[in-house]
Amino acid sequence: MKKILLGMSTDELKLLATASGEKEYRGKQVADWIYRQGCRVIDDMKNLPDAFKIRLVGEYEVGRSDIVKMRRSKDGTFKLLLRPAFDELIETVGMPYEERFSCCVSTQMGCAIGCAFCATGAGGFKRNLATGEIIDQVLTVGEVALKEKLLGVGGRISHVVFMGMGEPLINYDATLAAVKLLNAELNIGMRNITVSSIGYVPGIYRLAKEQLQLTLAVSLHASEDTLRRRMVPGMSRYTLKEIVDACRAYFRENGRRVTFEYCLLKGVNDTRDDAIRLAALLKGINCHVNLIPFNPVEGSGFKSPEPGRVADFRQVLEDASIPVTQREQRGAGIEAACGQLRRQFT
Ligand code: SF4
Repeated sequence: MKKILLGMSTDELKLLATASGEKEYRGKQVADWIYRQGCRVIDDMKNLPDAFKIRLVGEYEVGRSDIVKMRRSKDGTFKLLLRPAFDELIETVGMPYEERFSCCVSTQMGCAIGCAFCATGAGGFKRNLATGEIIDQVLTVGEVALKEKLLGVGGRISHVVFMGMGEPLINYDATLAAVKLLNAELNIGMRNITVSSIGYVPGIYRLAKEQLQLTLAVSLHASEDTLRRRMVPGMSRYTLKEIVDACRAYFRENGRRVTFEYCLLKGVNDTRDDAIRLAALLKGINCHVNLIPFNPVEGSGFKSPEPGRVADFRQVLEDASIPVTQREQRGAGIEAACGQLRRQFT
């Protein structure tokens, strides 16, 4: 099996070039082709000497995926089902906004956490994605968005959120390398990158030590441990207090406010008492809460909360001086919740 160029930094590609007897700058040229020109085939790298190309082709391929399916919503959001170089299917999403364009990437093929409301969790875990497979999602979404004239003012992907299939902090090394490559090679500002975790405590402490300016978003989805264990069974070894304590440490190390994600499910976790407990749990931490009214998944058994409940829940948090936003529902009609599109094809 050939090795993959995508996922290597410019410095690594320079080393590869010199190890092949070429000048260092040839490695920079390869980086320009794969990250900035979107080149999919080594033979198309026009300014490389033929002998270098032949050596590269013998051992490497670029590592781009094929688009198996695309679904597009009225709001411009589109979801792609991608088949990476040798494997099964992964999902990635492009989201145009007025002032930015955001790409939501997957970090694992499937997921072992098994959240009660998630189509990906229902499908089980297959494997971790490699760094190049994460970067490929951003490049592919960018190409589709350009073709569909969705990139808007900035003309490029400006934000990347690690909120697709899988738990990024369990696939830690590939996630971190992808974050650094997005910043260094695709020029995406570190503050425009969000890594979302379901509350994997060792990963939060580890990420805190990196002292990166990215945003950490932690999904809670419950205000007390019994419900949390039912909702997020794969993380039941960590209490909510332990998760929030890890986030306090993250803030101490980085000075970056943590975002807490809370998916509101009708009659499950959307009561006033839930909101009061959540406010108490988050007391004193510099944070921001993102309320996400559930996007119904067929067969999940969960329903969207009533708008009045969402407003009440929000009010309780705001009365406790916790900044709250309500995530706008995007991608209606395209199986936009993670894992839904893939489930149709597997
Ligand atoms: S919500 Fe995230 S962590 Fe939970 S099962 Fe789905 S992909 Fe995994």
